[in-house]
Amino acid sequence: MGTYHYYYRLHITRILWTTLPHLFVPLSHHFNPTTTISISSRRHRLWCSSCSITEWKRKQSMEHVVVNDGGSEVVVADPQSLLHKISSFRLAGPKKLQVIADFDATLTRYWIDGRRGQSSHGLLQQGNPEYDEKRQKLFEYYHPLEFDPTIPLDQKAILMEEWWGKTHALLIEGGLTYEAIEESVAKANIAFREGVVELFEFLEEKDVPVLVFSAGLADIIEEVFRQKLHRSFKNVRIVSNRMIFDQNGQLVAFKGKTIHVLNKNEHALDMATPVHDQTNDINGLVEDNSFVKKRTNVLLLGDHIGDLGMSDGLNYETRISVGFLNDNIENSLESYQKAFDVVYLNDTSMQGVVKLASQLCPTESA
Ligand SMILES: [Mg+2]
Repeated sequence: MGTYHYYYRLHITRILWTTLPHLFVPLSHHFNPTTTISISSRRHRLWCSSCSITEWKRKQSMEHVVVNDGGSEVVVADPQSLLHKISSFRLAGPKKLQVIADFDATLTRYWIDGRRGQSSHGLLQQGNPEYDEKRQKLFEYYHPLEFDPTIPLDQKAILMEEWWGKTHALLIEGGLTYEAIEESVAKANIAFREGVVELFEFLEEKDVPVLVFSAGLADIIEEVFRQKLHRSFKNVRIVSNRMIFDQNGQLVAFKGKTIHVLNKNEHALDMATPVHDQTNDINGLVEDNSFVKKRTNVLLLGDHIGDLGMSDGLNYETRISVGFLNDNIENSLESYQKAFDVVYLNDTSMQGVVKLASQLCPTESA
């Protein structure tokens, strides 16, 4: 781990000096990083690329570069732009805010006790090894296609639709039961990031809706909420593929159109059914899709650059994007810091986002 961090630090330094020298302007004329540090909790460290050379050297010598052992590591490529967006959000208040979050490896942890955390799709054992294997074969065939840069997007969307369709058909054919979902979740290596509950509670208190987008299965995600958090939140809506079970708890069909990796955005809202059919919403937060149209400030949380597409279909005015770069940092940091306003490194907690959210919703405008 030490070696890894050492390499990583070198890499950051290289990025700074080779790609961002124009951003090194006198601090007093640009941005005082100490103000941005407030977006993260005390145990987080902010690294910003617009510090002056003197400041940077001072920081470097003080080992204020992104590496530290106990806290989170944060990269903000353009602090000035972020500050500008934060003040615009504050001005508009929580009534204009909505949060859009990816589920796997964004709300949940990437590593759990040294092992890769499971995804909501990956954890499912349908209680029929033959069908589990068939789904695994589909994964092995389609997964490389999902990341094949030579396949045009429209063709890829067809392939993804095909993959999801076949997987869903196998779940029905293989006799998936709700009980198998409960057991799978109970056995799964899956956990929410520390601070997720705090974040949802805060947003619930402010009546800010949270849309959790997933190309996985809503029923599994809800079961993860139930078993891992022992509660639900009235402001949280899961936009994902939803199952229909018969009276014996056996899967018979899926509701609505398929949501796959390439159409996981607000268009999917029209395709998806509400999270908890039984849940009464508050102030039209949950049941009426029009609520999100009026909320033109978006805080987006994701762990893939593709997650930025979750806000497609929404005419937002301002978006603050937060990326969790959990792994492969040395290769991905450059693209992540260009794509996201804020990048949290190394599978960190949600505490920085909690702090950010509290800044976006000042008490006086609530
Ligand atoms: Mg994800």
